[in-house]
Amino acid sequence: MNLSSKLPRVGTTIFTVMSQLANEVGAVNLSQGFPDFDCDPVLKDLVTKYMGEAKNQYSPMPGLPALREAIATKIKKTRGALVHPDDITVTAGGTQALYCAISSVVRAGDEVILIEPAYDSYKPVVELHGGNVRTYELSAPDFQVDWNSFSRLITHKTRLIIINNPHNPLGKTLSRDDLEALNKLVSGTDIMILSDEVYEHIVFDGKEHHSVLSHPELKERSFAVFSFGKTFHITGWKMGYCVAPEPMTREFRKVHQFNVFAVNTPAQFALAEYLKTESNYLGLPEFFQAKRDYLQEGLQGTRLKPISSEGSYFQLYDYSAIADEADTEFAKRMTREYGVAAIPVSVFYSSGKDEKVIRLCFAKKEETLGKAIKLLKEM
Ligand code: PMP
Ligand code: GLN
Repeated sequence: MNLSSKLPRVGTTIFTVMSQLANEVGAVNLSQGFPDFDCDPVLKDLVTKYMGEAKNQYSPMPGLPALREAIATKIKKTRGALVHPDDITVTAGGTQALYCAISSVVRAGDEVILIEPAYDSYKPVVELHGGNVRTYELSAPDFQVDWNSFSRLITHKTRLIIINNPHNPLGKTLSRDDLEALNKLVSGTDIMILSDEVYEHIVFDGKEHHSVLSHPELKERSFAVFSFGKTFHITGWKMGYCVAPEPMTREFRKVHQFNVFAVNTPAQFALAEYLKTESNYLGLPEFFQAKRDYLQEGLQGTRLKPISSEGSYFQLYDYSAIADEADTEFAKRMTREYGVAAIPVSVFYSSGKDEKVIRLCFAKKEETLGKAIKLLKEM
């Protein structure tokens, strides 16, 4: 069969490639972003309880009312924003929410602006729907957005701007001023924002997370995407949600209902109950910051230079003092020869821009990080 691909340039994701290589050579896997420790047993018991209570059939298409109410309450407490449960849709992880948001608004010929390096799922979904990606490239070492030069990418065809805060792979966060600058650029236009905030609770050094939901004007034009996977150490459950104003939620659900219809029922019951205890997520900054600092301190004195991580699971390292080979080669060689797997950052740029930087995931047990530190000190 002569099958001409709709995504000819898409291969296997770097996360799969590097995790496979790590397994193959028995390396410590600091590449793909997932915890190597278990979630709270209380959460597991809740799922078991609801399965035992026969909560095993389809839930309502937008998500269980009790879960959407618990999410709205949490948003009010943490972001000071009033969101109606009808503007929340429970999804199969952040990934499916991102897919539905893009799919529901991007038409052939529309332009979508991405800030690169960008998480790898955005671009293929835009292209699958005939959209054209325009990229704003960030550069080492500070990777900051200059909104003035960013504004040159906006045209009458711009339909959507995708932001990611805290940022994967950079570990950078957006400030209130960043959101205000973005707001000025889109104010008076029909441009929508897709704000990927899956690491909303993983922000360090006492900083606040600035959600689009806390910005009254941006909130009215944004899809905000979240993941229970990151917040409760359950990336394998694939549970998340999308918050958007009514007209956008209406379009989002038209796709959602035929994409997945509804998501895992016992997990929704369990999360609705578990979310009510704030301490289940408010301690995350300290918990992950300790891991970030442990890795950073451990690697002090090596030729890997850290680039400040303000949030997320990730810490970037500049390896230019060790080698000048391409980051993809370096990451593979480091995995094979030194036994620690990392993600090369160039794969997140459409242009392949190579800043000689790798990403390490510190969402790991101290024991795992300790092993990695020992191995990397040999480099
Ligand atoms: N966005 C970003 C920035 C991510 O890092 C991830 C996953 N690690 C996702 C979205 C997807 O989230 P989920 O696993 O809930 O689908
Ligand atoms: N988001 C995770 C990461 O950045 C991986 C998710 C995936 O494997 N698709 O590593």
